[in-house]
Order: sequence, then C-alpha cells, then structure tokens
Amino acid sequence: MTSSITTMVRFPVSQTIRAFARRFFEQGFQLYIVGGAVRDFLLGRKITDYDFATDAVPEQVIDMFSTVIPTGMKHGTVTVRFHGESYEVTTFRIEGDYHDRRHPESVTFIRSLEQDLSRRDFTVNALAADAADGTIIDLHEGLQDLQKGLIRAIGDPVQRFEEDALRIVRACRFACQLHFSVDSATLSAMSALADSLSHISGERLKIELFKMLEADRPSIGLELMKSCRAVEILFPELHHCIGVEQKGMHRHDVWYHSIYACDAAPIHKPLVRLAALLHDIGKPVVVQHHENERPTFYHHDSVSVAIARSILTRLKCSNDERDTVLNLVANHMFHYDGQWSDGAVRRFVGRVTVDALEDLFDLRLADQIATTGSRNSAAILEFKERIRLVLESGNALTVKDLEVNGNDLAQLGIPKGPAMGTVLQELLETILDDPKQNTKERLSEIAVQFYRQRIQINKS
Ligand code: ATP
Ligand code: MG
Repeated sequence: MTSSITTMVRFPVSQTIRAFARRFFEQGFQLYIVGGAVRDFLLGRKITDYDFATDAVPEQVIDMFSTVIPTGMKHGTVTVRFHGESYEVTTFRIEGDYHDRRHPESVTFIRSLEQDLSRRDFTVNALAADAADGTIIDLHEGLQDLQKGLIRAIGDPVQRFEEDALRIVRACRFACQLHFSVDSATLSAMSALADSLSHISGERLKIELFKMLEADRPSIGLELMKSCRAVEILFPELHHCIGVEQKGMHRHDVWYHSIYACDAAPIHKPLVRLAALLHDIGKPVVVQHHENERPTFYHHDSVSVAIARSILTRLKCSNDERDTVLNLVANHMFHYDGQWSDGAVRRFVGRVTVDALEDLFDLRLADQIATTGSRNSAAILEFKERIRLVLESGNALTVKDLEVNGNDLAQLGIPKGPAMGTVLQELLETILDDPKQNTKERLSEIAVQFYRQRIQINKS
C-alpha cells in the first residue's frame, strides 16, 4: 500500500508553483513543498498554506524576486509575493541545542533536504514534494503513519520533546485536527516530559490552542492533553475542574461539561469556543457542598472572569480577544423569562452590547447541549424577539445614547471625574426604565438634582 502511494500519487503542482520553482532551478537551487500541504493533500484535506524548503540561503531568495518580506530571517524564513500568492520559503536547516526548551541556540543552514526533514516533529509532517513534478519524498515512514492514522515523533521521542516541549501540545493538536491517535512510545514521552511545558511561551501555546479550537471536536485534543498531564501543567485552573460534580440537570463534572460545551459552540467562532471552555472555570473555587442536596456555585461567573483573565493574559491574547471572551463569560448566567420588563431587556442589551448578543446565545446553546444533551432554542428565540422590539424602538441603551454628554454636565457645574461618571450612570438607569425622560432638559434637571442631593451632600 505504502509504496503504491509513493509511486502512483504525485502532489498536484499548480502552474504558478511550477513557474515559482523554475526561478530556483534556473539559479541551480532545489525547491520542495514540505510539511502540512503534502500531508493534507494526501489526506484529502483542504490545503491552507504552502511552505517551501530550499537550499538557497535567504539573501539568495531575496535576490531572485522583487517582493520578499523578511518574516523570519534568523530561522531562514522569508515570504515571497509571487503572482498574487504569498509563499513561505525556508532554507534547509538543522538546529543546535535547545537550552531553554523553547528556541534552538543556533540555526545552521545546510544543503540537504534529508537532514532538514529529520529535524521536523512528526513523521506525517516530514513529507516533501518536489516542486517541479510533485514526486513525493517520504524518508520517515510518514505515508505509513498517514495510513495508520498515527502521530509519531521522528527518531527518539524523548529527545524530540526535550528539544522543544511545545511538540507535546502539537501532538495533541494534530491528533485532534486529523482524528489520529498518538503512537504509544510518543505518548509515553509526552507524559514523561510534560513538566517542561512550563517553559513554553504563551504566544506559541496560543497558536496551537486556537488551531485545536478550530478542529471538529476540541475535546479530543483537550482529553489527550489531560492524559499526558499537559492540562495540569499549562492550565491548572482547568485541571481543578476534573471530578467537580454538579448533579441536578448536569450530566457531567465541570471538566467534561466545559470541554463538551467547547465542542458544541460554533466551529468558526474560536473565541466563543474559548469562552465555552472557560465559562465555568470558577466553579471549583466557589463550590459549596450540602448534605443530601446538589452542590451550589454562587458567583462562579465573576470568579470565572478573574481566572479566565489570567489565562488569556498568559496566552498573550489581544485586548479585543480578551474583552470578547470575558464579556461572554461574565454574562453567561442570564435567566430570561417573559416577565422581564422592557427596562430589564434594555439593561441586558446595554451590558452585553448589541454586537456580542449572537455570540452569547451561541454560548448559551452550547452550555445547554453540554448540560442536558439537547438544546432548547425556543426560549432564546422568544428573547431575541423581545430584543428586536426593544432595538427597533431606538431607545437608549448605554451612556453614549443619552441626550446629554459630559460637556453638557460640566456646564451645569458638575465637575469632570468620578462624580460625573456616577451622575451619567444614574441618568442611564433612569432612562432605561423610562425612555421618555431622555431629553436634554429633563436629564439636565435630574443631573443637577442628583448631584446636589446625593453627591455634594455626601461630600460635605
Ligand atoms: P498547519 O499549517 O495545518 O497547522 P503544518 O504542518 O503546516 O500544519 P506548521 O505549524 O505550519 O504546521 O509547521 C510547518 C511544518 O514545520 C510542520 O509540518 C513541521 O514539519 C515543521 N514544524 C513546525 N513546528 C515545529 C516544531 N515545533 N518542531 C519541529 N518541526 C516543526
Ligand atoms: Mg502550516
């Protein structure tokens, strides 16, 4: 079987890649497509990006093309713009010792594809295709492992994870993404070296975690990470969720509830999936046990926000990513029923913000599925209809929608600073319940009165 793939199947090299490769050959250099593109083609998966390997050094590649971006010169990588495409080209290299288990001490450029393939992480990632005719080169039994559905480290797994601990998470990520299992010697080495994961950088971890969140079922990768102790080392807060029973409506402990909620959130919304994974992470901290009754988890939403914040900061998420996830975690506990006043609906929308509503409902459905095994969209549909009506009426929802602003209040003699913030908040509370009061005259009156009676007096 294996050899038939090697000889029969060729990587489909497009006209553009052929023209790209010709530039290298004309100068006497080699060019191969390596890694993910070859693997994904053989698996019939969509190819997301092309990585090329060559014996030309970066300066030589720069000389060959008019637009080259020096994306990672230190590691021998440049990005070439060619016929509207962006191609990453990396010089064949070997790596020196990994003293900090993160970065090789040095990188040496070499002339041999063979050595370049041996420094790669897993056999299925060490396949190459000749960029001229698509011939597939398999020096590490990658084709055999592709057929077996196996993630296997190249060479001695202990040594490979010692060099770079991130490979432990990558093994879980690829197994999850490709629906593969992990070879047993590779898995033992992952467990044995899990402690060294404490040295890896947040940025690199984030990339792998997000790729996992974009797989069909992130729970598979997260369970693997649990089984090799990576969860314990990297996300101790999630590890504490294991075995925290909830009972009542819940079918699962907090760990399984969280990872299944993550699966049930939309595949194209990694931030909602991340929020689903973290929404109950405060539960182990606040759990209270009661005799003959189910445990309670009061205020777990706000504790979850604090814990999630520290995880997102460790992962070096952007401010936008962090705010999106934390807003969802903070607001996941709403309990709408038809008795809510319009003021309550406006308050909810103002707090969550209009743009985040759809994500919050996605999180709620995921939470329900993970809790009971089924979804009940009827209540959400009813709530959405109420929200639609409230939005349609165009009434104010936030301080920004008030008919007075800070400058207006300053002219009325209210000093800028915390006092003004309190007054604006009071005005908002008033008009959320009674939108008719949102006129400049009326708000000015309320503001002055409130400031005199509640703030100035308290101060004196
Ligand atoms: P995808 O792009 O779908 O995530 P990929 O295989 O292209 O998959 P990348 O992370 O883009 O994965 O890495 C490209 C290639 O570089 C890999 O296929 C592998 O050969 C090599 N590689 C990447 N990271 C490492 C690492 N930490 N150790 C060893 N080799 C690595
Ligand atoms: Mg890639």
